[in-house]
Amino acid sequence: MTKNLKMIFLGAPGAGKGTQSDIVAEKYGIPTISTGVMIREAIKNNTEMGLAAKAYTEKGALVPDEVVIGIISERLEKADCQNGFILDGFPRTVPQAEALDQMGVGINCVVSLEVADEKIVERMSGRRVCAKCGASYHILYNPSENGTSCDKCGEALSIRKDDAPEVVLDRLNVYHNQTEPLKDFYGKKGVLVLVEGQEEVKDTTRLTLEAIENAIK
Ligand code: AMP
Repeated sequence: MTKNLKMIFLGAPGAGKGTQSDIVAEKYGIPTISTGVMIREAIKNNTEMGLAAKAYTEKGALVPDEVVIGIISERLEKADCQNGFILDGFPRTVPQAEALDQMGVGINCVVSLEVADEKIVERMSGRRVCAKCGASYHILYNPSENGTSCDKCGEALSIRKDDAPEVVLDRLNVYHNQTEPLKDFYGKKGVLVLVEGQEEVKDTTRLTLEAIENAIK
């Protein structure tokens, strides 16, 4: 019997976590929980949390651990997470991973999408997002059907403020310093699989699904 999938996508910004999360979520019928999407939503709606997060996010820094840990613990208690879930963009620091352990959710698969920094910078310059539903596209590698609006909700696509080249370099530094140590954290637990990000989304998906199927069989 296969186990419920409770997984994390690790990887640099722009490595393809959001794209692969959505594909896996659809295949397994489980939700994707993206702290980045939740934070952008809160900023758009001017909530208290959004106002607190805005300055960090815009300069490419991480929002304080206690804020994101709070959001995630509330979200994981919802009924739709009981048969599994995918975390995209959380945890991003060792204290966040320790807090997740304490929630006792039993992560059984961590896929780290490996993409070289030079490739990330190139990819980020072509990223386009839907500010309404959070869908993400790339002008060359994963374009929307008409190239200008979202396939899911029709909203005009835009460029994320934090995808500006100078902010991307800061975000990559943050990734290497604060998030990459999580590979060691989950490697020691025996749940980590490294997946080389491929040129074509579908090739990365094939490798990702193989890793997942092995983890939950
Ligand atoms: P993302 O869409 O995952 O690239 O996240 C965009 C931004 O939201 C990040 O650069 C951070 O400012 C913030 N953020 C998202 N997830 C986290 C997290 N787990 N911890 C701290 N900050 C986060």
